[in-house]
Amino acid sequence: MSSPVELAAAEPVAASPVKALPYRSWVEVSRPQIAANFRAIQRVVGKSVEIMPVVKADAYRHGAIEVSRTLEQQGAKWLAVSNTEEGVALREAGISARILVMADFLPFTREAMLAHHLTPVIHSLEDIAELNKLAQSRSEKVRFHFKVDSGLSRLGVRWDAAGVAEAILGAPNLELEGLMSHLASPANYGTKQTEEQIAAFDRLAGHLKAAGISPSLVHLSATIPIAYGRRQAWRGMVRPGHAIYGYVSPARGHAPAQVLDVKPALTWRATVLSVKDLPAGASVGYGGMFKTIGPTRVATLAAGYADGIPHKLSNRGSVIVHGCVAPIIGAVSMDMTSVDVTHVPQTRVGDAITLLGAEGNVQIDAQQIAKIAGTISYSVLCGIHARVKRIYV
Ligand SMILES: *Cc1c(COP(=O)(O)O)cnc(C)c1O
Repeated sequence: MSSPVELAAAEPVAASPVKALPYRSWVEVSRPQIAANFRAIQRVVGKSVEIMPVVKADAYRHGAIEVSRTLEQQGAKWLAVSNTEEGVALREAGISARILVMADFLPFTREAMLAHHLTPVIHSLEDIAELNKLAQSRSEKVRFHFKVDSGLSRLGVRWDAAGVAEAILGAPNLELEGLMSHLASPANYGTKQTEEQIAAFDRLAGHLKAAGISPSLVHLSATIPIAYGRRQAWRGMVRPGHAIYGYVSPARGHAPAQVLDVKPALTWRATVLSVKDLPAGASVGYGGMFKTIGPTRVATLAAGYADGIPHKLSNRGSVIVHGCVAPIIGAVSMDMTSVDVTHVPQTRVGDAITLLGAEGNVQIDAQQIAKIAGTISYSVLCGIHARVKRIYV
C-alpha cells in the first residue's frame, strides 16, 4: 500500500502508448462521446425542445451512418442533411428517423427525395408549386419545411410574407410542418445582426399566422445559440451540428458564459513511415522550406494534404509523438508529412502518432489546427479525406 507521501512524489502519469493499427491514417470516433454530447445538448435545451442533429457532410466526417445510429439510439427523432444523396444513404442504411434535407430540391433529386421519405426544405415560392405538383402526381400529401431568409442572404425567401402565404395556401397537397431560418453571426455579441434576423423572422411568421398558417416546428438555432444560452432562438427545435461532434466556436464581444459542455469525439492518427537522422544544414521537403540547424531526427508520417492535413500547416503545425509535441517541418506533401522527433528518439517505423486528439495531457484539437492553418474548425474536420479509415470505439 502506498502512503500519501509516495503518491505526492510520484511522477506524472505518462501517456499510455497509442495502439498502432494497420492503416496509414485513421480516425477513431467515440460513439459514447457523440451520445454524451447529444445528452448534454438535451440537458441545456430541456425536453420540450426537439433536437435535430445535423449529420451533413458525412457527419462532419465522423461517418453519417454510425453517428445517426448512435443518435437514434439516444432518442433523436429528426436528423438533418444537406442534400438528397446524403438522406438516401441514411435510408438505405436503415435509419428511420425523420430526415430534413436542408439545401437541395434541385430538379434531378426531387423524385428520390420523396421516394425515400425525406423531408424537403423549400426555399423559393416557385418550388412550393413544384413540390405541390409532384405530390399531386404521386397522390400524396407531402410535409415540408420552409426557409425564410432573415438576413444571411443565402437560401430562403426574404420579406415577401404575402407571397409566401399565398403560395402555401395554394398548395393543397402540401403541409407546412416547419418554418426555419439560419443565423449569420450568432457568435458575435458585438453586433445586432442576430436580434435583427430574429425580428425579421418573427415578422414574417406573424404575417403567416394572421393568414392562418401555423407550422408546428419553428427552428433557427445551430450550435452557437444553444451553447451560449440564447433562448429566444431555440423555439421548438434546434439544429446542432458542431456541438454533436464536441465543438463550440469561441464567441466575440460581451458573450454570456457557455452553458453547454461537450467534448471532441474524433481522434485522428497516422503511422510513421520512416525515421532518419539528418545532419545540420539539410533541407527538408519540397522547396527546401525547412533547414536543420543541428543534427535532427525526422519522422515521415504516412498522411499528407490528400488525407486532409492542411497544407498551411507546413513548417507551422504540430503532431503528438509518444505523448510529446513534435513540430511539422518542411512542406506538407500530398501523402506524407515530416516531423521533428529529435526530442523523441524512441520513435520507430510503424508507431502511431496523433494528428488531432489527445495523448495523456497533451492535446491538439480542430480549433487549434484551424487557427494555425488560417481556417475554421469545421473545415479541418470536413477536410479529413474519405481515404482515411474510420473506426468506432
Ligand atoms: C450546418 C448547419 C447547421 C449546423 O451548424 P453547426 O454550427 O455545426 O451547429 C444548422 N443549420 C443549418 C441550416 C446548417 O446549414
